[in-house]
Amino acid sequence: MVRGVQLCFVLLLVCANVTTGLSADIQPFFDTKSIEREYAIALNDFQRGRYEVAFIHAGNVLVWLDFAEDKGGKFGKKLEKIRSVSRARFMLTDRPCPICGGDGHARVPGFSIWGNIKAVPDKESACAVCEGSGLLEGRKSPKEVSRSLARAREGHSLVQTRKGMKNVRGVWIPGRLYRQLSRQQKKAFKKAAPHVCPDCSGIGLVGCSTCGGTGVVPCPDQGCIMGIKASGTKSNLITEPCETCKGKAVITCPDCGGKKLLPCDACRGTGENRR
Ligand SMILES: [Zn+2]
Ligand SMILES: [Zn+2]
Ligand SMILES: [Zn+2]
Ligand SMILES: [Zn+2]
Repeated sequence: MVRGVQLCFVLLLVCANVTTGLSADIQPFFDTKSIEREYAIALNDFQRGRYEVAFIHAGNVLVWLDFAEDKGGKFGKKLEKIRSVSRARFMLTDRPCPICGGDGHARVPGFSIWGNIKAVPDKESACAVCEGSGLLEGRKSPKEVSRSLARAREGHSLVQTRKGMKNVRGVWIPGRLYRQLSRQQKKAFKKAAPHVCPDCSGIGLVGCSTCGGTGVVPCPDQGCIMGIKASGTKSNLITEPCETCKGKAVITCPDCGGKKLLPCDACRGTGENRR
């Protein structure tokens, strides 16, 4: 049984190679040294917190691997790692806490001048949802991602051009090297450019729009004041934990189930789209 599974896996790998790999008659034209050098550039950007640029650059070098001697050796995995961790980092963004409105203060039941129960800020204690920071960690929407990637791409293009790189269908390659390639090599390189999904900028994932990628939404119970339900009068105030949110003031987002990110509809999470 186990052997059968292994065999299937090997077959899968072989098939994957056939569909994405190159025909054997195309001579590789990147040496491992140049892959290593470009990897170091991506790593440097990553370490300096320039995650969008690291993501773009690592993606570029990953295209090179198809044309590299021994497929770039160990650098393929390292580049994939830079890409996935960078992506996770630049998808993060702060959202104002929907419960305290961003001021970080707790809310307690109080009374309006008309004698109605209302939420009153309690400046002595911190909002339980954001712990007083006024912010919740969210995930970027496709529009926000596209904006930050476009900005990074602009800077990256400038640097690449200054280095004498040539942009071939969105993939950078040293201009001098490109001019030396055979027609067949050029054709194959052009074909290798990824078809980036325009809806998610090739990320494959989008921040949930219902919760801003925070995974939670305010308790839908109208009378819920930071997880407390209050009734009665000024002289006889009755409080109890809200049943709907179990006293937490927020509930799990019904659209993403708390996952914060959803697979892109247009590309079904692959990041590639040939439309
Ligand atoms: Zn808050
Ligand atoms: Zn509630
Ligand atoms: Zn959500
Ligand atoms: Zn997509």
